[in-house]
Amino acid sequence: MTARLLEGKVFAAKIKEEAKREAEEFAEAYGRMPGLAVIIVGEDPASQVYVRNKEKACEELGFISKQIQLPETATKEELLARIDALNRDEEISGILCQLPLPEAIAPYESEILERIDPLKDVDGFHPVNVGLLVMGKKALSPCTPAGCMKMLELSGIPVDGKRVAVIGRSNIVGKPMFHLLLAGHATVTLCHSHTENLKEICREADILVAAVGKPHFVTADMVKPGATVIDVGINRIAPKKLVGDVDFESVKEVAGAITPVPGGVGLLTIATLMMNTVEAARLQQEKQGETRI
Ligand code: NAP
Repeated sequence: MTARLLEGKVFAAKIKEEAKREAEEFAEAYGRMPGLAVIIVGEDPASQVYVRNKEKACEELGFISKQIQLPETATKEELLARIDALNRDEEISGILCQLPLPEAIAPYESEILERIDPLKDVDGFHPVNVGLLVMGKKALSPCTPAGCMKMLELSGIPVDGKRVAVIGRSNIVGKPMFHLLLAGHATVTLCHSHTENLKEICREADILVAAVGKPHFVTADMVKPGATVIDVGINRIAPKKLVGDVDFESVKEVAGAITPVPGGVGLLTIATLMMNTVEAARLQQEKQGETRI
C-alpha cells in the first residue's frame, strides 16, 4: 500500500487563497487590509529568511506589512517600547516577535511575548490565548498545529470521533495540537518521553502526529494500517538534508495518508499566520464594537 501524499504546497495555496478572500471582505467592511508586523532582533540568518518569507506572503496577499529590525544589542526596554507602539497602531492587526531572541534578552522571552496585546498575538503564545484554547473558546492558536488542523479539514480527513495520538508536548506544537484536536471532538492521547507503551498507543491511532524532533522516530510498526500520519518534525541530518520525525519510506507503505518532509507541514505555517492575521483583525473589530455599545 502506498499512502496518499499530503503535500504542503497544495494546502498552503488553499489557505492563502482563503486568507486573501477573507482579508478582502474585511477591507470592504472596514476600509483597510489586515496588517502584520514582524519584529526581529539581531542578525540570525535563519530568522532573517523566515522574516523575509513572511514579508513576501504579506505582499502576495496584499496585507499591510511592517518589519522592525532591532540591533543585536537592543535592550528589553527598547523591545517592549516597540511592542507597545505596535499594540497602539491601528494599521497593525498582528504582531510577531521572531524567536530565538539574542542571548542577552532571551531570559525575558515570556515577559516580552506577554506584552503583545492578546488580540494581536498571531503566534497564539500569549497565556490569554492559551487559556482560551484550553477552555475550547475562540482564540488565536499557534500556526503550526492550526495549519495541521486546516490541512486535515481541506483533505477531507475526519477528526470527529477518531482516535489520535500526538507525540510531543511542547507549548508550540504538541499541547496546542492536543487542544485543537479535542475541540474537533477527537479522542486524543498526548505522548511524551515518559509515555509507556508508546508503540501500542500509536498503533491504535487513526491519526498520528509526530512532533518529537528526532529523525525517523516513527517507524512502520508504530502505525495502524490506513492511518493518517502528520510529520511536524524538521531535523537537519546533513548540511543540505532535512528529514522529519517519521521514517517516510517505510511508513508510507502502511499509512493511508502522510505528509512529507520537506514539503509538508512546514509550508503551512506562514499560510496559517496570514489566516490568523485576518482573524486577529476581525477580533479587534468585534472588541471595538463591544466597547462602543
Ligand atoms: P520540543 O520542544 O523539543 O519537544 C519535543 C517533544 O518530544 C517533548 O515533549 C518530548 O517529551 C518529546 N519526546 C522526546 N523524546 C521522546 C521519546 N523518546 N518518546 C516520546 N516523546 C519524546 O520540540 P517542538 O518545538 O515541539 O518541535 C518538535 C519538532 O517539530 C522539531 O523537529 C521542530 O523542528 C519541529 N517544528 C516544526 C515546525 C513547522 O513549522 N513544521 C514548527 C515547530 C516545530 P518531554 O516533554 O517528556 O521531554
